[in-house]
Amino acid sequence: MPRENAIELRNLRKTYAATARSPAKEALKGVDLDIPRGSIFGLLGPNGAGKSTMINILAGLVTKTSGQVTIWGFDQDKNPRQSRASIGVMPQELNIDPFFTPRAALDVQAGLYGMPKSQRDVEGVLRLIGLEDKAEAYARTLSGGMRRRLLLGKALIHNPHVLVLDEPTAGVDIELRQMLWANVRRLNEERGMTIILTTHYLEEAEEMCDEIAIINQGVVIARDRTENLLAQMDQKSLVILPEGPSDAVTAPQGVTLERRSDGALVFSYSRAKTSPAAILDSLRVAGVGIRDVKTQEPDLQDVFVSLTQSA
Ligand code: ADP
Ligand code: MG
Repeated sequence: MPRENAIELRNLRKTYAATARSPAKEALKGVDLDIPRGSIFGLLGPNGAGKSTMINILAGLVTKTSGQVTIWGFDQDKNPRQSRASIGVMPQELNIDPFFTPRAALDVQAGLYGMPKSQRDVEGVLRLIGLEDKAEAYARTLSGGMRRRLLLGKALIHNPHVLVLDEPTAGVDIELRQMLWANVRRLNEERGMTIILTTHYLEEAEEMCDEIAIINQGVVIARDRTENLLAQMDQKSLVILPEGPSDAVTAPQGVTLERRSDGALVFSYSRAKTSPAAILDSLRVAGVGIRDVKTQEPDLQDVFVSLTQSA
C-alpha cells in the first residue's frame, strides 16, 4: 500500500531574478520529491545546493517560478491557507523581533495562524523549548541558543503536521543540539509529526533520518532510505601493517589488495561477501605477522562524494 505523502513537489523551479549586483540564478532546476508522512526526512547538500530555497518555498517565504507544491494534500496555489497551516518552519536565519518577549512572540504567531485563544498552548510550547524562565524577557536579551529555541517554538505554535528545520544545528553548541534532537524525536514519536531537516552535516542526517534526499546545484541526485544509501557503499577496507616482508601474502577471492609504499597492505572488500577473518587468515597462511590493523568504513561523505562526482 503506498504511503501517503506529507509533501509532494512536482517539477519545482526557482530562478532568482538578476539584480544590479548579481546575474539571475537558477536555484531549483525541476525538483520532483515525495516526503512520506511520519518520517524524519533529511535534505542533504552542500552550501548553495538549493535547500533553503526549497524550504522557503514550502514556508511561503519565497515564490516559486513554476511547478507544483502539495503540503499534506493541499495544493499551495489552490488551498494556500490549509497548506500553510499544515507546516511550521524554523528558518536558517535568526530573524526575531527584538521587542517581543517569547510569550508575546508565540501569542502573536498563533494569532497570525488564526488560532483562537482557547486553542493556543503558549505555556506548553514555552515548556517544550525550555524558555519558561525567559517568557517575559525581551528577545534582544536572549542568547543565540535561546533565540533558536524561540524560533522552534514559533514553528510549532500552530501544531502543524509537518515541522521543517533549516540547518537547525549549524553553529549551535552540543547542549542545544542534543535538546533539539531530543525534541524532534519526541515530536515524531509522540505526535507522529513529520520532520524535515536540512543539513550539510552528514553524520547528522545519518543519525537522525529515516530517509534522505541529496540535492546538489538545484537537482535531487539521490533519494532513498538512509540504510539503502549506505548499503550502496558496501565497500570496506582493512589496512594491515605487516611484521617484516609480506610478498607471500595473496588476497582472498573477491578481495583486492593494494601494497602501499609504506609497506601497509590495503585489502578492499564487500561487507556483504567477505569477512575480515578471511583476510587475516591470508596473512597467517603466508606466515606473516601483523603489527597493526585499521578498518575504513564508508559514511555518507563517501556516498555524497561519489554521487556528486557522477552527477
Ligand atoms: P542552500 O540552503 O542549500 O545553501 P540556497 O537555497 O540558500 O542554498 O541557495 C541556492 C542558490 O540560490 C545559491 O546559489 C544562492 O546564492 C542563490 N540564492 C539564494 N537566495 C537568493 C536570493 N534571495 N537572491 C538571489 N540568489 C539567491
Ligand atoms: Mg541554506
